Amino acid sequence: MQFRQLGNTGESVSILNLGCMRFPNEEKSEEIVNRSIDLGINYFETSNRYCESQSEIWLGKALGERRKGVLVSTKSRPNAGSSDDTRRKIDESLHRLRTDRLDFYHAWSINEREMLDDALRPGKWMEGVLKAKEEGVIRHVGITSHATPAELLDILDLDLFEVLTVQYSVLLPAYREVVAKARQKGVGVIVMGPLAGGLLAPPVPTLLREALDSDDPVTGAFRYVLSDSGVSSVSSGMRSAEEVEHNCAVVNSLPSDLSMGYQKEVDRRIDDLLGDRLEEIQSQLCSGCRYCFSVCPQRLRVFNLFKAYNLVHFGGEPKNPEKLAANADEAIEQCTECAACSRICPQKIDVPAHLRRVRDYMRALADEKASASKM
Ligand code: SF4
Ligand code: SF4
Repeated sequence: MQFRQLGNTGESVSILNLGCMRFPNEEKSEEIVNRSIDLGINYFETSNRYCESQSEIWLGKALGERRKGVLVSTKSRPNAGSSDDTRRKIDESLHRLRTDRLDFYHAWSINEREMLDDALRPGKWMEGVLKAKEEGVIRHVGITSHATPAELLDILDLDLFEVLTVQYSVLLPAYREVVAKARQKGVGVIVMGPLAGGLLAPPVPTLLREALDSDDPVTGAFRYVLSDSGVSSVSSGMRSAEEVEHNCAVVNSLPSDLSMGYQKEVDRRIDDLLGDRLEEIQSQLCSGCRYCFSVCPQRLRVFNLFKAYNLVHFGGEPKNPEKLAANADEAIEQCTECAACSRICPQKIDVPAHLRRVRDYMRALADEKASASKM
C-alpha cells in the first residue's frame, strides 16, 4: 500500500481508504475492516447515520484493539442544531466507536453555502466542534461537500478546514481546480465517488471502457484520480472482504510516479465522446448514495432506475426497457411529490422530474425495440 501526506495535518494516509457506508451487516463489517487493516488501509471513514446508524457501532467493534494503529473519521450534519447538540453528537459517536478521540470530524454534506454559514454562527455546529477540539476529543476538522467547484473555491478561502472530502472522477473533472487550491492551502483532500456512482464499476459500457483505455475500468478510474498529487486518498465503500482485496490489488498495481498525462488523455477522449452533452449528463448523474431512499415516505428506490439511465449515455443498452418503464410508472404513481428527496440529494437532482424523464426515455426505447422486432 502506498501512503501520502494528508495536507498539513501531519498524518500519512493509505491512498485507498474504507468508506463504511455499505457494510451489509455486523459480521461482514468485521471481515471487511480486518481485511482492510491486513492490507494496509489506515483511514476509516464513517458517519453518525450510515447503515441506519449502525456503521459507527460496527466499525468500533470491528477495530477493537487495532484502533490504535488507524485513523478514524466521522461526521454529522450541521442542520440547525446548536453547539450543545453537536457536542452531544460527538460524545455519542465516541461511545459508538469505542474510542476516546476522533482523528477527523467533518461537517457532513455541506452542499450550499447557506448551510455552512449557518453552521458557523455563534452557538452552532462549529462552536461545538471547536470546543471538542480544545478538549482534545477531536484532532482535525474537515468538511465533506457536493457543492459546485466555484462554491468550494470560496469555502477554501475561509481557511477553516484541515481536510476536504470531495467528489472527483473521470466524469467530474472540474473538481481538479478545487484540489489544486486545497493543495496550495495545505488542506488534505480525500476523494469520494471515484467510480462516478458505480458507472465505472463493472459492467462498464464500452464507450467508457474505451475512454479509460484500461483493461479494468476500476483501475483506470482510480488511476485517473490518484494521478493528481493533490489527492491524498480515495474512498471506496466496500461491501465485502473480496472487494477490499480487489481494490487493494488495483491501487497496488499503480506505479508510484503517476503523472497528470493520463488524466489529460482521458479528458480528451471523454470530450470526443460526449462533447457538449457532458454538462447535461453531470447534472443528472445519480451517485447511488440512497439518501433519497432514507427520507422518502414511500420508500421508493429510484436510484436503480437512474443507474440504468446513466448507462445509456455511454452506450449501455438496458436489457428490459419495457420493465424499467413500468417500474418508473409505478414509482411515479406512488410518489407524492413531497420533494424531500430533491432537497437531500447531493447531486441536486429534481427526483420526480428525473423519474418522468427516465420513464419517457425507457418507454420510447421499448416502443422502438417492439417496432424493430416486427419488421
Ligand atoms: S418526491 Fe416522491 S420520490 Fe421524492 S421523497 Fe417524496 S415521495 Fe419519495
Ligand atoms: S437521486 Fe440523489 S439522493 Fe438519490 S441516490 Fe441518486 S444521488 Fe443519491
